[in-house]
Amino acid sequence: MPPEPRHQDGPSEPARRKSLLPRPATQAEGAPDLFQRLLETSPDAVLVVNEAGTILFANLQAEALFEYPSDTLVGTNVDGLVPSRMRPSHAIHRQHYAAAPRLRPMGTGLTLFGQKRGGGEFPVEISLSPIEVNGALLFSANIRDITERQRSEKEMRRMQGQLLSAVESIQGAFALFDNKDRLVLCNSSYRQVVGGALPGDLVGRTFQDLISASITSGAFSLVDRSANDLIEAWTAHHTAPTGALEVKSASGQNLRVVERQTADGGVVATIWDITDEVTHEEELRHARLSAEAASAAKTEFLASMSHELRTPLNAILGFAQLLQRDKKTPLSARQQDRVEHVLHGGEHLLRLIDDVLDLARIEAGRVLISPEPVAISETIAEVKDTLDAMATRAGIRLAIGEIDPHARELVADRTRFKQILMNYGSNAIKYGRPGGTASFSARVVGHQVRITVSDDGIGIDPAKQPSVFQPFQRAGQETGAIEGTGIGLAISKRLAELMQGHVGFESVEGVGSRFWVDLPLHVAARPEGVRSVTEALGSDSALTGGAGPRYVIVYVEDNPSNIAFMEDLLADFERVELITAPTAEIGVELVRARRPNVVLMDINLPGMSGFEATQKLASWPETRDIPVIALSAAAMIRDAARVAGAGFYRYLTKPVKVDELTAVLEELLTASPREPG
Ligand code: ADP
Repeated sequence: MPPEPRHQDGPSEPARRKSLLPRPATQAEGAPDLFQRLLETSPDAVLVVNEAGTILFANLQAEALFEYPSDTLVGTNVDGLVPSRMRPSHAIHRQHYAAAPRLRPMGTGLTLFGQKRGGGEFPVEISLSPIEVNGALLFSANIRDITERQRSEKEMRRMQGQLLSAVESIQGAFALFDNKDRLVLCNSSYRQVVGGALPGDLVGRTFQDLISASITSGAFSLVDRSANDLIEAWTAHHTAPTGALEVKSASGQNLRVVERQTADGGVVATIWDITDEVTHEEELRHARLSAEAASAAKTEFLASMSHELRTPLNAILGFAQLLQRDKKTPLSARQQDRVEHVLHGGEHLLRLIDDVLDLARIEAGRVLISPEPVAISETIAEVKDTLDAMATRAGIRLAIGEIDPHARELVADRTRFKQILMNYGSNAIKYGRPGGTASFSARVVGHQVRITVSDDGIGIDPAKQPSVFQPFQRAGQETGAIEGTGIGLAISKRLAELMQGHVGFESVEGVGSRFWVDLPLHVAARPEGVRSVTEALGSDSALTGGAGPRYVIVYVEDNPSNIAFMEDLLADFERVELITAPTAEIGVELVRARRPNVVLMDINLPGMSGFEATQKLASWPETRDIPVIALSAAAMIRDAARVAGAGFYRYLTKPVKVDELTAVLEELLTASPREPG
């Protein structure tokens, strides 16, 4: 007989394999046994045995599984396929089954073991079903090797174990909810924080159920809200999680809840103990508050000390000058010389006090910066004029170098900007050499204007350069003959930074230095929505046109750019005369003399401030009723209490809005058509 093929290629090739199965009565002799062919196609190993356990049929898969050569299983006892140690019990089980046969599907019952012909054991799963052929009770067994499945189950359990131990080792509380919002897994920390007082297992409970039960059981401190509020807040965070939710445990721990949605619609929840962080922040806040208090106390101390020091110093300087000029009993040349020393020392001390106070006020955030457009060329010219005498004494020529035509205006506090230039300029003279030159120049760099003061003086030792902008650092001049305090540059740097600018320098020892300050360029464009006066007032305004009463407005302002703007603006008011005063001191005198209809008062003025000037005007009967409109940079409005008590008719912010100003002027002037005094 030719060897049987091990595998069938298709149903057309009938299997002629050994079988002891009785032929069904209905089947014709020689016809292919359909029943057997059906068993051959099963993906599982299939055996058919009789009540005695004799194998009547084994399909190809069965032979392959148990590693038996073709046709060698049929006729043997099925107990031979079980490991020898289990054979006796297997025989008993088999007999019990035969006595009460029933269908037993896969996956029910215990894991069983098979034994290969060579002796190797392997786990199997078996389904049994009784079948009756020609009156004989037979049993078919489907057998599946589950070695691979057990291996992957084991691997899955290992990975799950790994995951659980990773989750467990997370310092915070961790939980995972599935897309039906049921708790899938959590670590013991979560169980403790959320489920502390809850009975039974948490896994399987829904988030809503869990969190409601937890909060109502008192696991969390409610601070100043109700349990429902907290449940709602937590649910809201859970449903659309962003940021973090901060809660407090019943035992007082500060907790941060962070939940995030997973890709499959679940939610990962973590809860972190941030008690230390909160305590630390609290400590920091306290430390900052007390540092601020200390700094404020220092400023207060410096302010009062400087006042205390100034009073006797003024007496010293004043009387020294009187001595110097005493015509009745003139001083001898020696005495003159000594008084000169007293005056000189006193003036130096006064400058030092002023500088220290200024720096302390800047550092304590007490300096109010009022940024406005400042004309560059004009300011440089003013600074040069002030320094000319000093330069002449030192034998140095002061020059105005190249001014970029685009560098027309910058945005700064005018007084403070001038202070920086004065500082740079006086240093260029102080550290210059007789016969040398110091010059100012300006150019636009991006959105900023760079104002540079260059000199051909002594320069700065490279080793000392890094510290020149630090307070009290004199870069090698500490013991030299040139007087100074080492504060000027430190003040300049801080002021520049307060005005959104910065400072820099380069210097070559023995050759010269260049100090610069960069400040924002002012782009002169008529702001959107601003109309001209005639547009704002309409042609029938009481203030335009030649006929009618005349009005006088005094404008107290030190910035030429602002004055030019106001002159331009009020040029349309044909019956209004604008008088300007560059300082508050001049302003109040002018108001007293002219008694205008309205005063426009800049707040940030050199010397007496707009506040003080307004108070002065309010204290005199003849000026008390003249309305004062304050004009200032928005930054100063923060000083709201001061503004409210200052007695202004109105407070307008710069840059002045034409509509706003004209509306106030019209309201004021037409209401009191009083001819000025
Ligand atoms: P000081 O009152 O000493 O002039 P500053 O703060 O203005 O204080 O300057 C700090 C130091 O920087 C000065 O003592 C000087 O050594 C150096 N310095 C500043 N400007 C110049 C300059 N134009 N040329 C040379 N050295 C300068």
